[in-house]
Amino acid sequence: MLYFSHPSSLEHDPRQGLPGHPEQPERLRAIEAALGERGWLGWERREAPAASEEELLLVHPRSHVERIRSLCRSGGGPIDADTFAGERSYEAALHAAGGACAMTRALLAGEAEVGFCALRPPGHHAEPERAMGFCLFDSVAVAAALAIAELGLERVFILDWDVHHGNGTAEIFRRRDDVLFASIHQGGIFPGTGAREDTGSGRGEGCTINLPVPAGSDEELWASLLADMVIPAAEEFEPQLVLISAGFDAHRDDPLAECRLEASSFGRLASIAKEAANRWQAPVGAVLEGGYDVSALAASTVATMAALGD
Ligand SMILES: [Zn+2]
Repeated sequence: MLYFSHPSSLEHDPRQGLPGHPEQPERLRAIEAALGERGWLGWERREAPAASEEELLLVHPRSHVERIRSLCRSGGGPIDADTFAGERSYEAALHAAGGACAMTRALLAGEAEVGFCALRPPGHHAEPERAMGFCLFDSVAVAAALAIAELGLERVFILDWDVHHGNGTAEIFRRRDDVLFASIHQGGIFPGTGAREDTGSGRGEGCTINLPVPAGSDEELWASLLADMVIPAAEEFEPQLVLISAGFDAHRDDPLAECRLEASSFGRLASIAKEAANRWQAPVGAVLEGGYDVSALAASTVATMAALGD
């Protein structure tokens, strides 16, 4: 079990430009305090390296990488009403993507069966050419693309259980048949994409699964959608690697959405995914996305890591 983190994650703070922003360094401090009290659940801790430019260019055009870099080098500023990049944010985003890549390399080298990246900013809303929804680079997408382009895999399954639709990841892979992207998310909230009818396009038709759920949805619905809809489709896809966009904002205490999962619910989702991955002999790597009530976030992360490491 490998846990990736980096000090730069704590230096990215959207509150510098957008006061009261919920995506704060305290999120990681809460996670690490909870893990520290529990002996890190026996996980080995590793420092996340910076992603190389080649890695970022697997999913983002050079113009986007340059734009974020120069914005940060010139002191930073808001990108839209809820996305901010400060002076240190480029560095943080490089390590967030680099951690996902390092985790993927380690998993595929057989160094561990499971991994968790506790890094910021999150990534799944970042489109190829647009930072949005608190995200600058799409870390999980960079890792999935790396696994295929450089590490020899043919099929990667990305499970996105953040309460918001992972529009960036969906867009990046929507025309590809080598990445199965499945998202369970609350319908009708940010970013507004992720309709059930959207199943991908071209060669990628059928390789996108969107399962919007209504406000108030609880563990039973989320777990049954995962077990009865997503896992059977993934079973047919025969993934060689499972990556999880692990957001914890479907928790009942989260201020940004209205679902009703408990911390233990995420442990259940992780167990369902891990059990399936065991059958497929595929390693599982989770990448932190959202989760904005810090104590709910910490407890949910602990439950997820405990289930993955079980
Ligand atoms: Zn989210």
